[in-house]
Amino acid sequence: MNKDLIIKSAANLKKAVPLMMKYHVPTTPLNYALWYSYVSNDIPELNAKLDNLIANYNVCPPIQAESLYREFVADKSESSTWDVRQCIEKMLIQLDQSLTDTNSDTTQFQEAFDKTFVDIHRVEEDGCSVEDVLVLLKKLESDSKNMQRSTQFFSQSLATAKDEIASLKVQLQKSQKQALYDSLTGLLNRHAFDAELSSFLNNDSPGLCLIMADIDYFKNFNEQWGHLLGDQVLKAVGRKINDSMRGGATAYRFGGEEFVILLPKSNLRIARHFAETLRKLIEKLSLKDKRSAETIKNITCSFGVAEFENGESLSSFITRADDYLYQAKRLGRNRVLPM
Ligand code: GH3
Ligand code: MG
Ligand code: MG
Repeated sequence: MNKDLIIKSAANLKKAVPLMMKYHVPTTPLNYALWYSYVSNDIPELNAKLDNLIANYNVCPPIQAESLYREFVADKSESSTWDVRQCIEKMLIQLDQSLTDTNSDTTQFQEAFDKTFVDIHRVEEDGCSVEDVLVLLKKLESDSKNMQRSTQFFSQSLATAKDEIASLKVQLQKSQKQALYDSLTGLLNRHAFDAELSSFLNNDSPGLCLIMADIDYFKNFNEQWGHLLGDQVLKAVGRKINDSMRGGATAYRFGGEEFVILLPKSNLRIARHFAETLRKLIEKLSLKDKRSAETIKNITCSFGVAEFENGESLSSFITRADDYLYQAKRLGRNRVLPM
């Protein structure tokens, strides 16, 4: 992680947080990203719109915040959002640590006070008290008590802040997960696939193979049984594929009813065989439609397989697998190509 970036992020976050408090903006990752962009002044149009909103409403309404986020932040900084998120997370860890330190200082402070009270009581009990001294001691005690109360309040608010930070961390983790995983099937998503594929190619990964799988006549499931059942078919196929991953292979939902599998350190023969195994597993799948209590069978997939060729582009690699998939469809589906 770039150190300047962390320092810059920290400075921006320090500016963003008070503004979010001021306008009662909930501390969600989306809002952090939005207000972070606002204080970093990177997108003047966003600032103008947000200023306008605040001027009109005095708060930032959540739906408006979300649409501003989508319009300006989400696409523009897809990659830098990752950096920012990581920075924020780093900062939170630091902040958390400093709060823990402060908290234990406070506790020590309180312990010292407690001891003083005990001493004061002893002087009283030992009976060696002159009235004036007692009055003085009483005064001291009440002063100390006030201080103790405020200290207690202080450590309570620190504890609250700590709780908030902990829940924020969980939220950040969750939103990072959402960014990488497909919500329907739980498989890694297209974004994760793109990132993973380019990292493989940047690091020169010999024997990298790609399997593209597409459910056959999937539209029919939707039409005959409804979209919800269609979703169940997608989930079942996704789970079957994912459960079959081994030897470094990873499955992704490529989109719609298409899945891709990356196999590092493999070759075309092994990858074809792997696809053939998946094909046989999927054609054995069966599902019960809860509404009609009927069993749905004939779930099949067609597959296209390609091995990466040195020096070729990402798109030609993907296109080769896709072309084979298309051929598999044309030749009657439920098969793996090349043979
Ligand atoms: P082929 O064998 O040629 O692949 O035929 P197909 O019907 O599977 O292919 P086509 O591309 O014509 O239709 C794919 C359908 O998948 C269209 C779309 O409505 C549906 N679909 C895409 N994503 C989802 C989803 O998340 N849930 C459901 N239920 N349907 C989806
Ligand atoms: Mg398709
Ligand atoms: Mg299909």
